Order: sequence, then C-alpha cells, then structure tokens
Amino acid sequence: MTEKNVRKGTVGFVGLGTMGREMALNLLKAGYTVHAYDVRMEAVDDLLRHGAIGAENLADATTDADIVISMLPDTPQVEEIVYGEDGLLALPPRGCLFVDMSTISPVAVRRMHADLRAKGIAFLDAPVSGGPVGAKSATLSIMAGGDKDAFLAAEPYFRAMGTTITHVGEAGAGQTVKLCNQLVCAINIQAVCEALALGRASGVALDTLRTVLLGGSAASWMLDKLGPAMIAGDASAGFRIDLMLKDLRLVQEQALSLSVPLPGTALVTSQYVEASAHGEGTNGNQALFRVYDRMTNQAAA
Ligand code: NAD
Repeated sequence: MTEKNVRKGTVGFVGLGTMGREMALNLLKAGYTVHAYDVRMEAVDDLLRHGAIGAENLADATTDADIVISMLPDTPQVEEIVYGEDGLLALPPRGCLFVDMSTISPVAVRRMHADLRAKGIAFLDAPVSGGPVGAKSATLSIMAGGDKDAFLAAEPYFRAMGTTITHVGEAGAGQTVKLCNQLVCAINIQAVCEALALGRASGVALDTLRTVLLGGSAASWMLDKLGPAMIAGDASAGFRIDLMLKDLRLVQEQALSLSVPLPGTALVTSQYVEASAHGEGTNGNQALFRVYDRMTNQAAA
C-alpha cells in the first residue's frame, strides 16, 4: 500500500448502478483506494478499468475497508449487506464504519444502527439528492443521520462526492429528511404536469409556457430540468418511476406510523401506481406526464 493510499483510506463500495458508479469514480479521482462490488460483474469490471480493485464477493470489498459505502436499490439489499452470511455483522470491516447512501426505510435504519453498534460498528444513513448529474459532477447534497463522531470520520469521503454535506441528526434522520425531499419533488412534478396539461389543452405553446413560468414564482427545478423532456415526450432517462414509487411508499409508511395526514402525497402516489401499472416503471420521472396524456386522451408523443 502506498503512502498516498494510507493517508486517503480504503473504501469498500457496494452497488455500482446509476448513482454508485459515479460516486465510486469520484472517490477514485480524489485519490482513495476503492474496492468495488456489485452483484453485476460487468459493473465491477467497468470500475476495474477506472482504477478500482474489483471484488468478487461482498467480503472481498468490505473486510479491509476503512469505510464501507453502499448505494443499493432498497431496504432488503442493504439489510443483506448487514445481516447476510458474509455481511458486516458476521465479518466486521477493518475501520468499523458503514455508510449507507441509498434511500431506504428509516425504521430499518434505526434497527441496523442498534445492531451494528452492539458489534462496535458505527453506522450513518446518508442518502443523497442531485440525481445522476449531481453524482457525476460530485455536487450531491448529502444528508447524514447518526453519531457526530461517525459523521466527522466520514466527512472527507463525502467531500469527494458532494458539496452540500449536512449532519441532520441521530440515526434515521438522514432518511427522514430525504423522504421530505422526495415528497416535495413528487408533488412538484405533479404540479408541472398539470400546468402543461392545461396549457396544451388550451392551445398554448408549451415551450413558451415553460419559459414564462421559469421567469416567475412558479419556477422550479422540476420545470427547469424535466419540463423539456415532458414537452418532447421523452420518457426514457433519469430517476426511475419505480424508485420514486418506492420512496413515496416509505413516506406513506412513516406518515401513517406518526399519524401525520399527507393528502397531497397520497394523491400523487396513486398516480405513480397508475404509471407503474402502465409499464412506465423503468422510465424517468417525467413519464408522470403520461398519466395526464391518458387522462386527457392524448397520444404520448
Ligand atoms: P440502480 O438500480 O441503478 O443501482 C443499484 C445497483 O445495486 C445495481 O448496480 C445493482 O446490480 C446493485 N445491487 C443490487 N443488489 C445488490 C447486492 N445485494 N449486492 C451488491 N450490489 C447489488 O439504482 P440507483 O439509481 O443507483 O439508486 C440507488 C439508490 O439511490 C436508491 O435507493 C435510489 O432511490 C437512490 N437515489 C437514486 C437517484 C437517481 O437519480 N437514480 C437519486 C438519488 C437517490
């Protein structure tokens, strides 16, 4: 191991998909040693070509790591990393620090936090906002829950992946803030869809409508970034409908457990269910506009 590697630390990175690939690449660019693992070996091979050390299984990636970082689809996959046969509880990583950056259940997070702590492993839930563009440009917003000391130990690694890095509270708080972020995003996408549906039915040029709205108090990230694809009928790229549906489900679970009524979230969740039932699950979130295509009997462009 070189002096540079000792200084910079070794990361066991698990989950090299849309987000994880870019985040792992940014850790490499920042000079960290990355042991990369994914159940898709082609994703591991790709990282290997960029200077990572390919791991053939989970334990290969985690046991020699100063910090283990995961970026996985949902709660069961993260639980497998913790509770699985060659998971972190069975084979604790050298640095005894685990950071999950996926969007998962805050209830599961608190359980994992307690179980890991009992084994002397610090755990942070540190989900992100900013999408694939933010992941690639290392400008993610990272919201971390867990012990302050663990946050301070993980912070240099976060700096390689993001720009807005905040310790938001105890275990589970990162996920709670992320779920609040997601409900704002979903309801905002819905508002953009409704404005475009009304403008289209009224015969207004949608590009003009969007430009005018962006210049006033209706401006939003969703209108700016997803509006063009909605207008062009391009449903293909971006944060997938099925991932947002997973997040909205988590929002609803948390809200029900705390008896917080979220009527806006309930409505937009049912529209995501409709989109998913129409085969839009792997499309980007802008495909929510197709729900409005169907409701107004407009053929998708
Ligand atoms: P993805 O499906 O593209 O990537 C997940 C990766 O995990 C895949 O490569 C998959 O093969 C791998 N994987 C699955 N199970 C595994 C296991 N047991 N062990 C090792 N690898 C495994 O998902 P993504 O878009 O990168 O999102 C990851 C997480 O980040 C999700 O929780 C998502 O909600 C959240 N997120 C995504 C975005 C986005 O825009 N895509 C933005 C913010 C947050």
